[in-house]
Amino acid sequence: MVIKIEGGTVVYPEKEVQADVWIDNDTIAAIGVANLQADKVIDARGCYVMPGAIDAHVHMQLPTPAGPSSDDFYTGSKAAICGGTTTLIDFVTPQKGQSLVDAVADRKREAAKSLIDYSFHVSPVEWRDTTEQEIIECINQGLRSFKIYMAYKGAVGLDDEDIKKVLQVVGRNGGMVTVHAELGDEIDDLRLKAGQNGDLSPAAHEATRPPHTESDAVKRIVDMAHEAKCPLYVVHVSTKESLKYIVNAQQSGQSVFAETCPHYLVLDKRVYQGSFEQTVKYVLSPPLREEADQDALWNGLANGTVRVVGTDHCPFSFQQKSVGKDDFRLIPNGAGGVEHRAGLLFTYGVLTGKISRSQWVDVSSTQPAKIFGLYPKKGTIAKGADADIVVWDPNAESRISAQNHHQNTDINIYEGFTVRGAVKHLFKHGEPIIENQILQPDIPGGTFLERK
Ligand code: MN
Ligand code: MN
Repeated sequence: MVIKIEGGTVVYPEKEVQADVWIDNDTIAAIGVANLQADKVIDARGCYVMPGAIDAHVHMQLPTPAGPSSDDFYTGSKAAICGGTTTLIDFVTPQKGQSLVDAVADRKREAAKSLIDYSFHVSPVEWRDTTEQEIIECINQGLRSFKIYMAYKGAVGLDDEDIKKVLQVVGRNGGMVTVHAELGDEIDDLRLKAGQNGDLSPAAHEATRPPHTESDAVKRIVDMAHEAKCPLYVVHVSTKESLKYIVNAQQSGQSVFAETCPHYLVLDKRVYQGSFEQTVKYVLSPPLREEADQDALWNGLANGTVRVVGTDHCPFSFQQKSVGKDDFRLIPNGAGGVEHRAGLLFTYGVLTGKISRSQWVDVSSTQPAKIFGLYPKKGTIAKGADADIVVWDPNAESRISAQNHHQNTDINIYEGFTVRGAVKHLFKHGEPIIENQILQPDIPGGTFLERK
């Protein structure tokens, strides 16, 4: 089938073009004038036509002691679609003693019900005799990014010696390391002390992860990646100090990428004041910071030192969060957001003049596609690319609420936020999935993406 998306403004990272976009089956066939006969014409006048967004940081069905995160790949990918996202990069987290390759196979089975295309970052959670070979095998299977945790020691966290080994092996084999940078030992110490002092409310979650526990970890991992000559991607950067270390490294020519998340851009730590019921949903790591940090992160997006916005989507129900009613240390960390990135960035970034429309598309689609080896099949409106396309109506208006979101949780950290703009049409491999803001009932499944 040939579909013509007519009269819209096509948004690229470097420009905007008034042009029709032609889809032929699952591929973008032409931009502008084409010698094709349209079977279907979509009216995109007054709308922005953009590549489907890529969320490079989500946790569907993440195992935790409080049960798995509450979106699985089906419900989470459906919520993603509603927010204009057509590709997910989730994680493979092996059991201790399990090979990375076996864990990849398990995760592929769980992800098979995703409605959109997906890939994974693979987490070495320990160093074993076979880990080097397993990393190489993952790369051969098209999984080229590896996630390490400096925090959460005893669960998924690695000590510095093992981190160095991962950096060296991944760097030597042409991959990339992504990192959760927080000083695990110092945080564990602060949590222990908070417990002894009886500071057990969600506010103590923020107090026991002060900004320097992130930025000092960033400094350390940037140095280690430099030493190992391994490209580094720092996930969920939340503080201005962290960004300084990253920018210094970038200026010296080191390959270091920064990602931030919508919650660090539009929420701040004042939300931790209140009752358990009011505050527990904001228990996520790193915690929310201050306005000065928000400003630094917006500036980073505008000047290119922060390349990507991912959501760190990791929702739980209020009931799951409530296991920590008497002790914040038991609260599963994370919040939903996969559905809200485009609307929040458009409303609070583009419409306020903090970033341009081109930057909005760049940080949510083009850059993650380039950094993680999906470009130019994904991340751009170009001839030959997958026809994953969003037609964004800038005049729609809505209010975020757990009452009507598609994420599988009864809480939402953006509850009450007004959002301008909405996905009017969405095509996935050329299939119309959202038409006139209505999600279609039959959505074909997504596929695993091998990354180059
Ligand atoms: Mn994390
Ligand atoms: Mn995460």
